Amino acid sequence: GCVHPTISDTLEQTVKRHPDRDAIVYPRKDQQWTYAEFDERVNRLANALADVGVEKGDRVATLLYNGSEMAVTVYACAKLGAVFTPLNYRLSSDEVQFIVEDAGARALLFEAETRDAVEGAKPDLSTVEDYVFVDEDTPDYASDFYELVDRGEPSAPDTDVAEDDAYAFIYTSGTTGRPKGVVHEHRSMVEHNLLCIAELDITRHDVGLTVLPMYHCAELHAMLFSRIARGATNVIHHDFDAPNALRAIEDHEISLLFAAPTVWNALAQGAKELDVDTSSLRVGLYGAAPMPEQVFEDCMEQLCEDYVQAYGMTEMGPCAVFQAPEDQLTKQGCAGLPALHHDVRVVEPDADPTEQVATGDIGEILFAGSTTMREYWNRPDATAESLREADGTTWYYTGDLGYLDEDGYLWVVDRKDDMIITGGENVYPTEVEDALFSHEGVAEAAVVGEPDDEWGERVAAYVVGDATADELDDYLTAGDALADFKRPREYYFVDELPKNPSGKIQKFKLRDD
Ligand code: ATP
Ligand code: MG
Repeated sequence: GCVHPTISDTLEQTVKRHPDRDAIVYPRKDQQWTYAEFDERVNRLANALADVGVEKGDRVATLLYNGSEMAVTVYACAKLGAVFTPLNYRLSSDEVQFIVEDAGARALLFEAETRDAVEGAKPDLSTVEDYVFVDEDTPDYASDFYELVDRGEPSAPDTDVAEDDAYAFIYTSGTTGRPKGVVHEHRSMVEHNLLCIAELDITRHDVGLTVLPMYHCAELHAMLFSRIARGATNVIHHDFDAPNALRAIEDHEISLLFAAPTVWNALAQGAKELDVDTSSLRVGLYGAAPMPEQVFEDCMEQLCEDYVQAYGMTEMGPCAVFQAPEDQLTKQGCAGLPALHHDVRVVEPDADPTEQVATGDIGEILFAGSTTMREYWNRPDATAESLREADGTTWYYTGDLGYLDEDGYLWVVDRKDDMIITGGENVYPTEVEDALFSHEGVAEAAVVGEPDDEWGERVAAYVVGDATADELDDYLTAGDALADFKRPREYYFVDELPKNPSGKIQKFKLRDD
């Protein structure tokens, strides 16, 4: 109902208000649906899933690229009270097996591009009873997605879903270890809609383009959910291709786009060569990392004027902090101010939530807010470590380090586990990596601490590129941007760095070597 809303209530309200507005545009399958048409497919899939035995609380896993199927599935699960469990489509068979088993998923949806990973994992999947394939040529053990949709009744399913029911298990990216299943409730996602709508002024007149993966909560929650709650239009691309995306901006008069800094850069560079009109873009959202200055300037010149940065993590839904357009130039690289109904603190790492550090001092970032996860699935120890109470408020320990400036703005410095302590001095690897990266012979760099008898830890750099250790050491010494104790004492030249499926460097693997 409207008083204790769930994710499906947000869709139902939009359908009542704007049944004839365009909801989903999916060029790859020539689909263009109004909200009434979208809602009917959602109902049909929910009923079809119920007919094959999926019940409230059952996990429905997806190994899908972007598409209308993701949008239909997530709302069908919400109506049914089933728990949406989206997996990264780049996972290997072993990783698929780990997550699907960890979640105990009952159904698994996949497509041609992810079929090998599913088939590799299948012998070890003990809980999956329904395999659903979204493309036409259906392998023996799977049913076709839209065939399944057509089998379901068009009326809304009759289930009883409450705001504190689990809406989804969203797995973390696995940058610091095995991915953890973040349990989000309906309530926290409805709250997440509100803060994105408020921060980005989303209205029914917006047209969004989805290029970031929908399995990640950033695109799914910040964009798709918020736009659907307002009756805006959602153009979905199967995956990212810069020229394709640029043409879509012009063709569909896209007003709202979310991308990582690397994707914004590809768009800005692409726009220099393609003659496209991007004047419909009203605001650009970015996150996952700060936007490098040059990229920012190119984007402003080529694409649109206003940008908002979001900082957060899967556990927070993910958006917890926003940097508004007017602060982009005055506080370059800053994460911003807490989102609606959120609070931030910086404390001594691992200390009590009340042990705040002084303004400007670096410590661990904590959040309290309406979008915080309920728990990590099946990980009571990790949950207890991450969620701690103080004065009736639950604080989430992010594992990120940062500081608050005199205006109350949050700056993110690095991950806590990555910090190096050498001879009693703190070294933040990101700073050393940025310095190395500015040398033209460095394509990629990852800086970690190695055990050292004398200093406790010493700074070591893993480098991809054609520079030599002597060149880099001379360069850093001459540059005087880095204090002497921060300069790497060891260099390792490697062909590639270990990365998770989203492309983040997995430093725990370098430290284990
Ligand atoms: P895991 O928790 O499994 O190790 P992960 O932390 O990489 O993986 P995500 O929840 O996808 O999984 O990523 C959140 C992290 O990404 C944050 O904790 C932070 O370190 C980084 N991050 C996100 N947004 C920003 C941003 N705007 N600026 C800097 N860092 C960011
Ligand atoms: Mg994390």
